[in-house]
Amino acid sequence: MGYAFDTRCIHGDVRVNPDAYGAVSVPIYQTATFAHPEVGKSTGYDYSRESNPTRAALERVIASLEGASDAIATSSGMSAIDLALGLLPEHAHLVCTEDLYGGTVRILDSRKKSTGLSYTQVDTADTAAVEAAITPETKALYIETPSNPTMRVTDLRAMKKLAVSHGLLLIVDNTFLSPYFQKPISLGADIVVHSGTKFIGGHNDSLAGYVCIADPEVAKQLRFDYKTIGMMLSPFDSFLQLRGVKTLPLRMEKQQANAMKIAGWLRENPKVTEVFYIGLPDHPGYEINRHQASGFGSMISFRVDSRETAIRVLNHVKLVQYAESLGGVESLITYPMLQTHGDVPADEREKLGITETFLRLSVGIEDADDLIQDLEQAFG
Ligand SMILES: *Cc1c(COP(=O)(O)O)cnc(C)c1O
Repeated sequence: MGYAFDTRCIHGDVRVNPDAYGAVSVPIYQTATFAHPEVGKSTGYDYSRESNPTRAALERVIASLEGASDAIATSSGMSAIDLALGLLPEHAHLVCTEDLYGGTVRILDSRKKSTGLSYTQVDTADTAAVEAAITPETKALYIETPSNPTMRVTDLRAMKKLAVSHGLLLIVDNTFLSPYFQKPISLGADIVVHSGTKFIGGHNDSLAGYVCIADPEVAKQLRFDYKTIGMMLSPFDSFLQLRGVKTLPLRMEKQQANAMKIAGWLRENPKVTEVFYIGLPDHPGYEINRHQASGFGSMISFRVDSRETAIRVLNHVKLVQYAESLGGVESLITYPMLQTHGDVPADEREKLGITETFLRLSVGIEDADDLIQDLEQAFG
């Protein structure tokens, strides 16, 4: 019997400590290279681009949490996504979620130029639409669930069925729910990517990314690309991520409880016309999410009655901060139209409902009533 999830956030599958002095907290091995005891012998570490003890400790924990054969820690979520997309052959076609993270769309576009990649964005909450978009050139499905920022939920088991019947790789960006609430590999995903900057790190103080891989052979290939390109996570950021992930379960529970309260309050607010939170039973993705994840997370989008209200809220929040990013202990509010989706063409953005009245809130671990009071005064 292995350890439970909460224990594995701290120790991984087995408690190992690389430190000779028994330091309880994994030290920051701030070294570029490692001396060899003699010719033909290695301590197990040669050069920090390829591997480093602090990073290796972190990777063991993340692989354990995602149920992956290996997890590779990268310098950001974007570099993790780029590494994973390197698995696709030239001229591959991809079917992906309609409202993908804006940076992911930029990577896809750059690969269009460099590798002839093509992609079709569909509402992946609609399984039939996904199937209809698959062509003989399609090599992978790339899914975000819930999606950002409109919180659509994609049925991962249905995606796995399509992937198997069409011979496709299933790649899931699990940033929004984290492995605490959702484990896509257990539902059939081949690759899980993360922005560790968000919930896993959890403190808005470190950029990181992860590629978690089900198949050990695929992991070997990606490890080779990784050491070749040099997109590794630094020892210091590995330490911050290790420190952050220890409290992942505590943070996720508190953030979710706060989000539930705030979503309820937003609903009652006369200036709020629509609330997108997958923890609300009348959210269209509520049931599917409930069957594939153990929670709803703490990301809420909402629509207000006018542009003036949106700007007022953004300019008047005091405790909640107007800033990009999400998932940390500090609550942040963003204006997707100008920030995360600023590069998306206006007509596409409008189609997705990302308009001048649309706001996104990442709920932190502050006291829920303090957050509500702050929002209340910001609405005016
Ligand atoms: C933030 C984010 C990314 C990019 O991660 P960085 O760590 O900022 O490079 C990718 N996907 C999702 C869903 C994100 O929220």
